[in-house]
Amino acid sequence: MKTVAKNTSEQLTVDVAVVGGGMVGAAVALSLSQAGLQVALIEKQAPVSFEPDSAPDLRVSSINLASEAWLTRLGAWQPLQQMRLCPYQRLQAFEQPQSLVTFDAADVKSSHLGHIVENNLLQLALWQQFPANLALFCPASVLALSQASDSALLTLDNGQQLSSKLVIAADGGNSQLRQLAGIGTNGWQYQQACLVALVNTPYPQQDVTWQQFTPTGPKAFLPLPGQQASIVWYEDTPRVKQLAGLKPEQLTQELLKAFPAQLGKVEVVSSSWFPLARMDANSYYSGRVVLAGDAAHTINPLAGQGVNLGFADAKLLTELIISAHQQQQDIGSAGLLSRYQRKRKPANLLMMSTMDGFYQLFGNDIAPLRNLRQLALTVASRSSMLKTLVARYAVGSE
Ligand SMILES: Cc1cc2nc3c(=O)[nH]c(=O)nc-3n(C[C@H](O)[C@H](O)[C@H](O)COP(=O)(O)OP(=O)(O)OC[C@H]3O[C@@H](n4cnc5c(N)ncnc54)[C@H](O)[C@@H]3O)c2cc1C
Repeated sequence: MKTVAKNTSEQLTVDVAVVGGGMVGAAVALSLSQAGLQVALIEKQAPVSFEPDSAPDLRVSSINLASEAWLTRLGAWQPLQQMRLCPYQRLQAFEQPQSLVTFDAADVKSSHLGHIVENNLLQLALWQQFPANLALFCPASVLALSQASDSALLTLDNGQQLSSKLVIAADGGNSQLRQLAGIGTNGWQYQQACLVALVNTPYPQQDVTWQQFTPTGPKAFLPLPGQQASIVWYEDTPRVKQLAGLKPEQLTQELLKAFPAQLGKVEVVSSSWFPLARMDANSYYSGRVVLAGDAAHTINPLAGQGVNLGFADAKLLTELIISAHQQQQDIGSAGLLSRYQRKRKPANLLMMSTMDGFYQLFGNDIAPLRNLRQLALTVASRSSMLKTLVARYAVGSE
């Protein structure tokens, strides 16, 4: 990886400029540079280095088998395994303990359903694989964008100018590049927010992730390596803010009161909270700027799909670009970008609407819906075919 010095007024010409080196942007930049394209990556903040005894990142994600397979091909999964992650074999959903449904890796003939990983470590594992031909600008951000018919020009905050055939915006839900490209969005802020807490548990490392649905919102358990776990607690926003303001000992008491008994006697180490928003970009591209990951869509994290959708965007987009590059075609053509949009936008919208359906079905106490969700869980618990289908969906099978 070539880290480019600050305060330069030279213009650099590359094939692709990627803005945002989070999990999705880093995977895009790695995939393209491994295929021999000249790539520049612009990122505000580098990932924190790994210390084996450091506390886990509060931001964790459930990574499905489809994402794992792609990250393995990129060479980032093996270093991540050498740092820290936690596989899980079972996924449980319930409202009352008697309606508990278990989806098992065995249902899809797999050794596991997915892994819980720390966002920072996954990002770091990707960054560690950057080859020498990748030009990294970090810390840096974009001041201006201008587009011509055959190229785009970015001006960075250090004065550097970057000319490319394509700009990939992977700068997250509040994407500045999306705004600079004039792409609007639609969506809404959910009335609920979620509290995320890192806890110590009395149990050895667990192989199960579970979610209890209650009328005030879901309560989820995500296992971490050793005797630790991540807790996600959805409530209305004022209550989440109030919980987030508590000291760890006080929050521990609230958790023990509100969560089901299988949580065990956990102790809160640290916590934070996140607002929940649904956002869909009106278009995935404009001229030679294309969106990927949260820059294109944000989804209710209820079923842990956000970054998995982002990796699916990144995989398809990079395959199209690499193929066009090999055939010496224009990698930023409207034809290529519309093929990407035609495939990914409907798939992402379908997942977003499915999550909203769950949110409505499981997140309230209206009697007919209460009966419907009891029925749904009972049917699911008795139908092995349905259980297999849900497990296939969880691992990211197409
Ligand atoms: C509580 C919670 C739980 C979640 N759990 C899951 C889960 O279990 N599974 C799952 O798949 N998803 C989950 N998600 C969603 C997941 O976190 C996001 O989908 C994912 O982080 C998106 O990755 P990204 O790389 O697209 O964007 P981001 O992670 O937002 O990364 C954007 C990057 O761009 C950089 N950047 C921003 N602006 C600029 C700029 N102007 N110039 C340069 N760099 C810039 C940022 O520093 C950052 O590194 C969860 C989300 C939340 C809130």
